Amino acid sequence: MTTIAANLEHVQGRIARACEAAGRAPASVGLLAVSKTFGAPEVLQAAHAGQRAFGENYLQEALDKRAAVAALAPELAAELRWHCIGPIQSNKTRLVAEHFHWAHTVDRLKIAQRLSDQRPEQLPPLMVCIQVNVDGGASKSGVAPQEALALARDVAQLPRLCLRGVMSIPDPVEGPAAQRAVHGRVREVFDAIAACGAPGLEHFDTLSLGMTADLEAAIAAGSTLVRVGSGLFGARSYPPA
Ligand SMILES: *Cc1c(COP(=O)(O)O)cnc(C)c1O
Repeated sequence: MTTIAANLEHVQGRIARACEAAGRAPASVGLLAVSKTFGAPEVLQAAHAGQRAFGENYLQEALDKRAAVAALAPELAAELRWHCIGPIQSNKTRLVAEHFHWAHTVDRLKIAQRLSDQRPEQLPPLMVCIQVNVDGGASKSGVAPQEALALARDVAQLPRLCLRGVMSIPDPVEGPAAQRAVHGRVREVFDAIAACGAPGLEHFDTLSLGMTADLEAAIAAGSTLVRVGSGLFGARSYPPA
């Protein structure tokens, strides 16, 4: 068994135990493998071990990697789903609209509008999450919690997007109580949108929350998709461009 396959089993075990502790079904939490800074061989090792969803932060790196994976293993590559989890500049929306299945980091209407306009007709709608900033200043990406509902209502109207949920990257905090507090604020935003009754929310089911260090706390707070990088692929050894 490769190291990545063993890591995958270990992370799946953590998810299963966290679900059990929270009284949730293990199948209610998905795993997004964050492969940024790692190459096509690592993606393929994870894919051969059964992983299908991959998250990437840097667009050019992601496109190069997708092409390399497709060249090495075309049939397996066709089963993979790519999630953009990095900030989206408005001059890069076309790349996201054309090459990803999901975008987690929609935090303003202008970006959502461009993604919808640029989503190619032959592809299904782009799955999107609203990124919420529950703990940072204005410099941090993500919409403020009090503005998230209005943004979600607008995004839900866009024809070529499918609003799937809420995503957040809380700053690391010490200890379970502090983690619970910050994760709870993300969950509140998710619940408020889910309950608002606006049209276009029929598929709103995803809380993208939790990484290697805090996935248990995120699952306790209701996460349905944990984004795990170093726990699967090891420490990232070079600073990404
Ligand atoms: C890098 C990254 C992750 C993975 O972080 P790990 O701590 O390595 O698990 C998850 N989400 C986002 C948005 C990231 O940028």
